[in-house]
Amino acid sequence: MIDPWRGELQRVAGLILLGFILGMMLGSVMLGLLLVLSAYLAWHLYNMFRLVRWLRESKKFEPPEASGIWDDAFEQIFRLQQRNRKRKHNLRRMLKRFHKITVALPDATVELRPGSEEIEWWNNAASRYLGFQYPRDTGQRISNLIRYPQFLTYLHTGDWQREVEIPSPVNEDITLRVRIIPYSKNRRLLVARDVTRIQRLERTRQDFVANVSHELRSPLTVVTGYLETLVDNEECAGQLGDQLRSMRSQTERMNRIVNDLMLLSRLESEDPQIDTGTVVVGPLIDTIADHARELSAANEHVITLEVDAGLCLSGHESELYSAFSNLVFNAIRYTPAGGHILISWEEMGGELVFAVSDSGVGIAPHHIPRLTERFYRVDTGRSRATGGTGLGLAIVKHVLLRHEGRLEIDSEPGKGSKFACHFPLGRKTECP
Ligand code: ADP
Repeated sequence: MIDPWRGELQRVAGLILLGFILGMMLGSVMLGLLLVLSAYLAWHLYNMFRLVRWLRESKKFEPPEASGIWDDAFEQIFRLQQRNRKRKHNLRRMLKRFHKITVALPDATVELRPGSEEIEWWNNAASRYLGFQYPRDTGQRISNLIRYPQFLTYLHTGDWQREVEIPSPVNEDITLRVRIIPYSKNRRLLVARDVTRIQRLERTRQDFVANVSHELRSPLTVVTGYLETLVDNEECAGQLGDQLRSMRSQTERMNRIVNDLMLLSRLESEDPQIDTGTVVVGPLIDTIADHARELSAANEHVITLEVDAGLCLSGHESELYSAFSNLVFNAIRYTPAGGHILISWEEMGGELVFAVSDSGVGIAPHHIPRLTERFYRVDTGRSRATGGTGLGLAIVKHVLLRHEGRLEIDSEPGKGSKFACHFPLGRKTECP
């Protein structure tokens, strides 16, 4: 038992004794006890009244003086109050700091009301980039203030894993990359970042690569033409002939690199919606398999097809040809003679899947995440020797991006690899 309670029980015992003595003196023990206990009750009521008054007068911090159990009760409540006050103070400081941080954030940040499109709060960057004004725009629907169709589709589809780029409603020369971040149960935060500079740099890079490739093409065509003539010329036989053939094979490689760079530039810059149609994938794979057999030639790879001929895809035929053929030709180039190659096209797990499996050299796991980077090669010597440009998988990645697809790579060194292109079921179309 804690001390204040022992004291209090002693006090009650003393009072009962006093009641007895008083009762004896008055001639009735009951009366004596009643008087003493009434006085005790009155003391409790008085202290209770003081407690309530103290709690109400919140400005008066020090607890009232009291004795017995009430002294302890006042003390405990006082300590609790002090702890709460400290916690409140810390919370207020944290809140102020958080507010200052969000205000200072360079990205526009807008908080929407729970479960709605109405704006609850925004920071200074949002006023700058999105033109929101306080208090005019508090409670406004964000779809009334940012009306670009691509933003409205993004806002309403609920696929907030991706981002969307829109011009700033204040200044059309500024490009904003917008992302909606759901949090709590039904709250949403909108974050918009100024990507004008990055976009400009990216466009400069794309233009540079496109221009360089284009400029290199004409002189290369001339050199290739002359080399063809010289190689066929009988006067240039012998050692000179070997040198000319070597020069021709290098110019052919340069031609392939230039063509792949130009294709990549086009894939990056053109609108993916242009020229889409129904791609009859079955015959496309047959053509690729025929070319693969020519490429394999004396190596006699065993090429097997498992193709659902009734499955057609909405997209660009030439782009899909580039992507699929790159995967198939890689399988031939990185599989030793006599190896097996399986090409499949099917509907699987709610997706359309084009896959190429081989029993080739395989790839160590640490290379896999970097394979789609331009000019990334696991074995540079082998890539060059087999006529690789180092751009094949970068092309595959871009083509898939333009078809809402993704590339999955499974591989084990020494055992083989599987490259699978997954397309959403929404891309399935009626075959003609
Ligand atoms: P490359 O023209 O060098 O083949 P890619 O972009 O097509 O360029 O491929 C990048 C690298 O990925 C290749 O250099 C090669 O090391 C590796 N790779 C691609 N396909 C395969 C495969 N089927 N088996 C083993 N390695 C592969």
